[in-house]
Amino acid sequence: MDTRIGFGYDSHEFKSGVPLRLGGLTLDHPEGLAGHSDGDVLLHAVTDALLGAVAAGDIGSFFPPGDPRWKGADSAIFLNLAMEELQNAGYRIANVDATLILKAPKIAPIAAELRARVADLLNVEIGQVSIKAKTPEGLGLDHVAQCHAVALVARVPEPEELKSMSAVIESQRQLEDVVDDLLSSVHGVPKKRGAPVYDTEDIT
Ligand code: MG
Repeated sequence: MDTRIGFGYDSHEFKSGVPLRLGGLTLDHPEGLAGHSDGDVLLHAVTDALLGAVAAGDIGSFFPPGDPRWKGADSAIFLNLAMEELQNAGYRIANVDATLILKAPKIAPIAAELRARVADLLNVEIGQVSIKAKTPEGLGLDHVAQCHAVALVARVPEPEELKSMSAVIESQRQLEDVVDDLLSSVHGVPKKRGAPVYDTEDIT
């Protein structure tokens, strides 16, 4: 299978006295998110989406909440583990799409910064990362941040496959040469290829 998809979800309650960590950034906000780690709800959802894409369990199976080692941990650690699992399974990220659900802070003005940071952490281009947000209308969850994330991953070709792919390209070139020769001999159509761009003899 060349592509797989993963889904991740997480929620954390707002709490005063802690910094707000979101997408690997520390945001200026009166409250942060409660959690055993840094409470980065966005990175947790993306981590679970990546782990889910390769059926490698979830964030809790690798980092149990009660483990003192992960108290206040930077959630980029969890994301790195998911990326390793992805790589070990022979897949790479095609794209990630996340939706935050929270009343504040407003995400639209900082979405580009968040996308750049998450893309950096995932080692992909910013165009492969989408982050958007909604307010929790009608949910009665104004003091909670939630995040849904999906990740599409694509299988990385094995070296032998790359070799056979280049062999196909070479055989296509040979076929085109034969067609050109035939056209040239039957209809007098000039060959498309033949003359090199430069004569290597001229290079001094
Ligand atoms: Mg979490």
